Amino acid sequence: MLDLDKLKSGNRRALAKAITLVESKLDVHRSQAQDALNEILPETGKSIRIGITGIPGVGKSTFIEAFGLYLISQGKKVAVLAVDPSSPLRGGSILGDKTRMELLSREENAFIRPSPSEGALGGVAQKTRETMLLCEAAGYDVILVETVGVGQSEYEVAAMVDFFLVLMLPNAGDELQGIKRGIMELADALLINKADGESLNLAKQTQSYYKSALRLMKHNNFWQPVVKTCSALNQNGIEDVWTMMMDYEAKAKDKGAFEEKRALQNSQWLNKLIHEMLEMRLKQNEDVKQELPKLQQSVLNSEITPYNAAKKIIDLL
Ligand code: GDP
Repeated sequence: MLDLDKLKSGNRRALAKAITLVESKLDVHRSQAQDALNEILPETGKSIRIGITGIPGVGKSTFIEAFGLYLISQGKKVAVLAVDPSSPLRGGSILGDKTRMELLSREENAFIRPSPSEGALGGVAQKTRETMLLCEAAGYDVILVETVGVGQSEYEVAAMVDFFLVLMLPNAGDELQGIKRGIMELADALLINKADGESLNLAKQTQSYYKSALRLMKHNNFWQPVVKTCSALNQNGIEDVWTMMMDYEAKAKDKGAFEEKRALQNSQWLNKLIHEMLEMRLKQNEDVKQELPKLQQSVLNSEITPYNAAKKIIDLL
């Protein structure tokens, strides 16, 4: 059984155990996990949730290590979660490398959890959302959710965080960055990493390029996306990033936008789950299994309209 008092007092083992239940594919574990989540819900929501993305090699783990260590030096407790969209088909994990963030992982006040694997309901991002809640109940003040620029994962991470940070390389021109335009629109800040040594000038050029590019993009009414440079390797500009995030949080809270965004994210999460649960019920329903192939054939034979066929299926539920 889960010891939720231990979890709430910050016990790492209890936290890890709860996350294992959240990530499990077994129904009995899932329902235990949901009971636990319900109980800890009042203790959640007190952290700042930060999404971090960027192509492989941009310096995500180097940055998160430097940033995490800085935050710990400021008295924070930091959880690092990953949403890794890669599947065995795509050649395995992109973020899963165990040697990453070695210094941070030794810290008492850091909790690093690799990406869950794909599950039945809601996928990887869903589990990460729930894990985030568990980390908050365990007293983590800053939750960093890391992902890569592949597939849908960036959108999913942006939909669960307060602040979305996109790491970039010192190269002017977004074709070179492999960053989709949609991602740029989600960014609350772009951070040009590797602004050091011979790349320093290029990083500055890249910064002014993106500053003007972002000026043309719509964002929200209290925040204009910021473009900064840093060197994760030399730990330059790290504090600046945190100051910016604190500034964002203060402005968002002042406008009521902080809570509003979380409420919207929650209701979108709810809607997504309703759709997925309905779809699963359809797939598992015996009558549907029998009738669907027949109706499909009837539609092909022009004996029934797709609309009426769909209605017949829904009526079976
Ligand atoms: P990730 O794949 O995005 O997690 O990238 P890594 O953090 O593993 O970094 C990829 C490579 O870039 C490593 O060799 C790092 O040492 C290097 N790197 C990361 N940050 C910086 C930086 O600020 N400056 C320089 N020069 N190299 C960096």
